[in-house]
Order: sequence, then structure tokens, then C-alpha cells
Amino acid sequence: MDEYLERMYKNSKRHFYNKIEDHITNNKKMFIITANPETLMIAKKNELLNKILLSNIPIIVADGIGIIKAGKMLKMNFKERIPGIEIAIKLLDYSNKYSKRVYFFGATEEVMSGFVKKVQEMYPNIVITGAKNGYDNDKEKTFEEIINISPDIIFLGLGVPKQELLISEYYHKFNKGIFIGVGGTFDVLSGRKKRAPKMFIELNMEWLYRLFKEPWRFKRFF
Ligand code: UDP
Repeated sequence: MDEYLERMYKNSKRHFYNKIEDHITNNKKMFIITANPETLMIAKKNELLNKILLSNIPIIVADGIGIIKAGKMLKMNFKERIPGIEIAIKLLDYSNKYSKRVYFFGATEEVMSGFVKKVQEMYPNIVITGAKNGYDNDKEKTFEEIINISPDIIFLGLGVPKQELLISEYYHKFNKGIFIGVGGTFDVLSGRKKRAPKMFIELNMEWLYRLFKEPWRFKRFF
């Protein structure tokens, strides 16, 4: 775990958001991984994800208090947690502010169409270049399509490690684009799945809330 933590981004949220904004306005490439302890545990067993996390390609942020705590124990000072869902929202804000072209890929068809509707209502300047569900299509083919479209921001909600492996496989073929694995964010932002109540988030207990709501995760977790 130490090597992963060493590699991770440790500065503040504000600094990170400035960095994203700079990348968006200057059309620079970026691959964002939002990691929680579960992500790191998967990487321990998955050689490909392990390689990605240890490479210099993605910027890996701490989405999860478990990471912050482990960092403290290892005397690595993470300024703060940066939840993946907040980064996704920030990316939508910037996309709207700068009228950027985005691509959404992942979740069920029902969730994706609900999500797209919300985005169209709330972010009128965003150009949606594509919105595909994460089930009934060939993922490799979809990525070939994304290469042709060359969007400014690509959101992948396929779960860990699928989303990270796909991004990493194709990243070098793009000249520009911000790529981010957003996990279940489409489900939450479409309104189909509740985000943990504010109290839980403030107590940094979001993971516990999710374990309560989705007990099958216990098995995956331990
Ligand atoms: N998903 C998908 N295609 C798949 C498997 C999963 O689109 O083949 C979606 C799923 O519908 C959900 C997301 O991936 O929207 C995974 O959410 P989860 O909260 O489990 O992600 P995590 O961040 O925990 O990996």
C-alpha cells in the first residue's frame, strides 16, 4: 500500500481544482483516478491496475478517509479528502463554463438517460458528444468512437478496475482530454441512488453508509 500512497496527490482540493481548470482551458491531457481503500485492495490483486497506479500516468486522488488515515500513520500528509463525486460535479461546472464537449459512458440505460436529462437542464452550455450505457455495447468499439470524436472530458462509470483499465488502454491514442473513472456517480447524480446524507459525509462515514445500503459490499471489502 505504501507505494500507492507515496504516488498519490496530497495537496488541497482548491489546488486540485485549479489544476483541472488549467488543463481544461489549455486542452491538456489528464487521467484522474479517485482512489479509496477498496481501489487499492483491488490493485494489490490486479496486476494491470497495480501497474497503472504505480506508473506516472494518472493523477490519483484520495477519495476516502481510509486513505487519509493510512497516510497519517505512514507520516504522509494528505491535506484533505477529495470525493470523486465532487470532482465529477466540478468537471461538469467547468465544462459548462467553457462550453466543452463531453462524453459519458457507463451505468444502465435508464440511469444514463436520466443523467443526460439532468445535465441538459442544469448545464445548458455543455455539448454532449455521446452518452452510452455501460452494458449493451462493445467497450472497445465505443472507445474507437470516442477517439474519433475526441471530446474534452470523458467520464467513465464502469466501476473499478474496468474504467481505469479501459482509459489506460486507449489514453495514448488521444491528443487531448480529461479522463476520469467515476464509478457509481451517474447513478447518484441521476437521482436513482442516494448519496450518503450530509451528516455521514461530514463524519467521513460515507463508506459505512454505503456498506449499510449495499451489504454485498462487505464481502468485496473484506
Ligand atoms: N457498470 C457498467 N457496466 C458494467 C459494470 C458496471 O456500466 O459492466 C456500472 C454500474 O451500473 C454502476 C457503476 O458501473 O453505475 C459501478 O458503480 P459502483 O458504485 O459499484 O462503482 P465503484 O466506484 O464502487 O467501483
